[in-house]
Amino acid sequence: MTRTVLKFGGTSVASPTALESVARIVGDTKGDRIVVVSATAGTTDALHTAAREAANGEASVAERIVSDLAKAHANLVADLLGVGGGAALGEITDLTERTISLLRSVAILHECTPRSLDAIVTYGEKISAPIVAALLNGRGTRARSLSAEALLITDDAFGHANPLLDETKTRVHQDVLPLLKDGVTPVITGYVASTADGVTTTLGRGGSDYSAAVFAAALNADILLIYTDVNGVMSADPRIVRSAKSLERVSYAEAAELSYFGAKVIHPRTVLPAIEAHIPVRILNTFAPEHPGTTITGDPVFDGSVVKATTSLGGLGLLTVQGAGMSGVPGFAARVFDTTAAEKVNVLMISQSSSENSICLVVPADGAERLRPALERMFSAELRRHDVERVTVDSPVAIVAAVGEGMRGTPGVASRVFGALGRAGVNVMAIAQGSSELNISFVVIESERDKAVRAVHEEFHRS
Ligand code: ASP
Ligand code: MG
Repeated sequence: MTRTVLKFGGTSVASPTALESVARIVGDTKGDRIVVVSATAGTTDALHTAAREAANGEASVAERIVSDLAKAHANLVADLLGVGGGAALGEITDLTERTISLLRSVAILHECTPRSLDAIVTYGEKISAPIVAALLNGRGTRARSLSAEALLITDDAFGHANPLLDETKTRVHQDVLPLLKDGVTPVITGYVASTADGVTTTLGRGGSDYSAAVFAAALNADILLIYTDVNGVMSADPRIVRSAKSLERVSYAEAAELSYFGAKVIHPRTVLPAIEAHIPVRILNTFAPEHPGTTITGDPVFDGSVVKATTSLGGLGLLTVQGAGMSGVPGFAARVFDTTAAEKVNVLMISQSSSENSICLVVPADGAERLRPALERMFSAELRRHDVERVTVDSPVAIVAAVGEGMRGTPGVASRVFGALGRAGVNVMAIAQGSSELNISFVVIESERDKAVRAVHEEFHRS
């Protein structure tokens, strides 16, 4: 008997049309099924706003936000189930009352601790799970909703807690396996977890994929299906490249590279528990369930392609520290990165020529503005002596990355990338390739970003 974990994201549970599709998908899945759900799209954001309002003493604003959410969810139940939704409505009412009293306490204290925040924001998943369970029951699939509290066990790093797999396994075996044996499909809250003592925690924003992967690993599932609202991972952003197509298979390493540079379908780190347990992960579309989507596997996928996908990230600044007196001076780079760390600026790409005459960093554009004076202070003596000539910022720029396992050990890839850019008349400002050879990244001025992505995509996806 196969065992499938199906995770449905925020847009998949937010409308009657989507939810009817969810019911069909689950109903059509053979064997043991474990469903993991997100909050409906936008709900978690709204709950964060409510918590902030409460912390500012605005209790009534916070209450209004939660009662509006409750109303919207009750309408969803009424649309889907009519009078049959009574039990789900009862659960929503209880949870709403509890969340509102939490917010009132926060407003009185004028403080929302990370622990209180987790208790508040989990309301979203706690009300979506009973709705999905009620719908499944209404459409012929026996189901029961479960909160992941006391089921998915984590440490107490509120807001981004770390799952404890062994503890979780024990609990899951106690509480989930008996349901499966009885032919009942558990519908579990994503994102939500608790410490071993039962104090509510969350796995971080977007964390319900992570929840699903932990449950897949804990239950030794055969496959993890992540249902979202796009056809898997694409060879490029379809808003930039009209001929972009979805990729049938990508390796975990490729998925990680792609998500880093802006392909936000999933955050690969979140599916790592499944990958480590050798459970394949498929990204599918609730709104086009027959589309094969993308399968992510632990092992590299060599399908004859060289560059599998071309992705980009804009809104960045290119910072260059330049000067003839930098070469052969140990500790120079360390001082550059001490400065980025002290300014809390995230560095996305680094490149240094072997002449050591310049170090380039790519950072978010606002970080670049902060870094320049900080670096000028750090190197004030060198600037006076002209060992460092200047610190410059080019902004806005974009990083474009060509990604694919097939690049490793294949000569001539870089020349094809840069040849294509040359023919398109795109000026390349900096280049980086890690020794993993999975990714060639380069920097262009923001206004040439789309042209650069199209040129590289066209070079490797000509059909
Ligand atoms: N609802 C949570 C969030 O919006 C978790 C998730 O959707 O994965 O961050
Ligand atoms: Mg989500």
